[in-house]
Amino acid sequence: MSHQRPMASLCEDDQLACFPYAVGHGAEGVCLLVQMGPHRILLDCGLENISPLQASSNPPADFVLCSHAHSDHAQGLLALHHAFPQLPIYASEVTTQLLPLNWSELPPQKIPKFCQALPSRSPVEFCDGLSAELFPAGHLPGATAFLLTYTTPKKTYRLFYTGDFFLSNSRLVEGLSIESLRGMQPDVLIVEGTYGSARHPHRRQQENQLVERIDRAIAQNYSVLLPVSSLGLGQEILMLLRSHHHFTGRNLDIWVEGSVAAGCDAYLELLPHFPTSVQNFARHQPLFWDERVRPRVRRLDERQLASIGQSPCIVITDDAADVSGYWHPEASPPVMLRPEHPRYPTRDNVELADIETYLLAQHGDRLGTTQLIHNLRPQHVIFIHGSPTYLADLTGLEELQNRYHLHSPSSGTLVDLPIGETFIQPAAPAEANYEGELTELGTVVTITLPEAIAADPRWQDFADTGLVEARWQGEEIVLRGLSQRELLTQASNTRVPVNIDCCGNCRHQRGQRCWNPASPLYGFKVTPEGYCPVFEAAESPSPTS
Ligand SMILES: [Zn+2]
Ligand SMILES: [Zn+2]
Repeated sequence: MSHQRPMASLCEDDQLACFPYAVGHGAEGVCLLVQMGPHRILLDCGLENISPLQASSNPPADFVLCSHAHSDHAQGLLALHHAFPQLPIYASEVTTQLLPLNWSELPPQKIPKFCQALPSRSPVEFCDGLSAELFPAGHLPGATAFLLTYTTPKKTYRLFYTGDFFLSNSRLVEGLSIESLRGMQPDVLIVEGTYGSARHPHRRQQENQLVERIDRAIAQNYSVLLPVSSLGLGQEILMLLRSHHHFTGRNLDIWVEGSVAAGCDAYLELLPHFPTSVQNFARHQPLFWDERVRPRVRRLDERQLASIGQSPCIVITDDAADVSGYWHPEASPPVMLRPEHPRYPTRDNVELADIETYLLAQHGDRLGTTQLIHNLRPQHVIFIHGSPTYLADLTGLEELQNRYHLHSPSSGTLVDLPIGETFIQPAAPAEANYEGELTELGTVVTITLPEAIAADPRWQDFADTGLVEARWQGEEIVLRGLSQRELLTQASNTRVPVNIDCCGNCRHQRGQRCWNPASPLYGFKVTPEGYCPVFEAAESPSPTS
């Protein structure tokens, strides 16, 4: 496939196609040319070398949309702007402000403000019949998914591009809300598949594991070295350490190096765009730089080089940084913790006590990806961004193959996207399965389910009283929500044997209500056979038994 005029043959009014200049395989960037009828839109420009876009003296597209400020999506934009100064480039407000970090080697005055900010959740019409709407995508502050809508007299075509997305809330950015996409009905979905069909533990659990690993190293008198990408993960970890109970108040220095520190500074300028919880935090103490509140967060500059590590500390540094000169000659070597899926190999030219990986996911796992697809139910799904084998794992999933046209193109391969006239949207899988976690803690068993389960209209009934009934059915356990009505009738009918630990025999139960402030049931109507971990036997059998 020639890179020249890749879509010359596609000028029909009703044709959709995608020509990927780069699909984000491995460390490769993302750059996709999308054609909707006569319109050509460039989605992201993560090319290190933009020469394929300069094959003709004409701009490669009518305009450019940039999903977020990570270099694999944005690093080619400045060169593209220099090559075609008239070519409009758009992104979210926050991305517009974070973009210059991609060219930190240049003095700020050398970086023109070439990117125009578009509002979120409000469609913008670019030309007759073509509009775009931005949806916050999680993953990184400012990260955005785009809905492109092309209207002809005969039909409306919709294409949804996720950019990098993450459904879970992280410390500094709210997740992509599937709820906000309801009713969208795109014909084409371009979705990232970074983690392939891997399954991940819950975000909180990932955070706790990382925190515990750092904690253990410090307790053993080691410093911890965390090489991260300059934007996103570093700030997430900082915020995690600042707010996790394992670390708040600890007499400890967290050193932040170079481009990660520059990322922190950029975030501080954007505070009004951050989630309310972050803004509240920042009202009481600095978000990052803080010499006073423990653990102290400090900028690592040349004056401290070769002096750190004398007492255990944490160093957060750019994954490309040469860390060999940081350590005090007498200091014992640090423990290095690396992200499980680093985009680039980390230099490890420093003597290390240990090297381990951790997971602090910033992209959806299999559950998140399939959930998004089943909610949007497009005709075509194009997978990009990730190793080709991971993407093949996704296109190999039967639950997707049965319903959608799946594509996982390599760079330079045109993807035709014929849209069926009488296409009927495939039904989502009849019953979604939710996977949860089971924890046995002494006297209680906790079952944790993904919050997506609560999106079903039936959830309200199930969760009405906050109490569930569990019973065995063969080898399986059936869970059932108890309704108010049932609680009331049960309370009057049921007799509970006196020797059983349950609300009916608990000294804190009066008038069928729990009066123990230490109980999760406090203030609620309780069933006599209900139970909570702070049960205390009544002196004598309670009146209801
Ligand atoms: Zn990204
Ligand atoms: Zn990316």
